Amino acid sequence: MKMNSMIADVKEVLIPSEEIQSKVREIGERITEDYEGEKLLLVGILRGAVVVLGDLMRHIDLPCEIDFMDISSYGTGASSSGVVRILKDLEEDITNRHVLVVEDIIDTGLTLSYLRRSLLARNPASLEIFALLSKPSRRRVDLEVKYLGFEVPDEFVVGYGLDYAGSYRNLPDVCVLKPEVFGNTETS
Ligand code: 5GP
Repeated sequence: MKMNSMIADVKEVLIPSEEIQSKVREIGERITEDYEGEKLLLVGILRGAVVVLGDLMRHIDLPCEIDFMDISSYGTGASSSGVVRILKDLEEDITNRHVLVVEDIIDTGLTLSYLRRSLLARNPASLEIFALLSKPSRRRVDLEVKYLGFEVPDEFVVGYGLDYAGSYRNLPDVCVLKPEVFGNTETS
């Protein structure tokens, strides 16, 4: 890893960049086969999914559009309540379209389960979920994730799109930060 300014804050590289890249390529190829003959709309959930969406879409060999939603979960601190506020809605009408939601990480599953219900109400032709990471030990609702990159333990992870206090999204690997970093980060 070449990013010296951030590496000092990293306790452990959980998933190195090469592993992420090969998994994303493999899933992109699966998606290409699964949606053969169709046109796909990738819906990235801001802001964490931006990095993986950019890589994933280049491995999907189909007519494909992208759109984004920004959502915020009502809840206190780290615990999500499952009620989601839409801060930025889709530009596209998804009626009769094949929609693949692209998310960075699923923790309790509450956010995506709420979002899934709300998108289904708009009558897409199909709706599936891609998540780069999942923390199965934290799951509180049943949620079918058709395309999953990696399962991770119950630790707070950053990098490859995921932030802590707005930073670290540009780390190429998925990492765990040193405990002393928390509470110590100036938001810039
Ligand atoms: P859920 O509703 O599944 O509990 O919440 C999922 C959201 O929580 C993710 O989209 C992400 O924003 C945030 N999140 C959960 N775990 C982590 C983590 O380990 N690192 C980071 N950066 N965000 C996380």
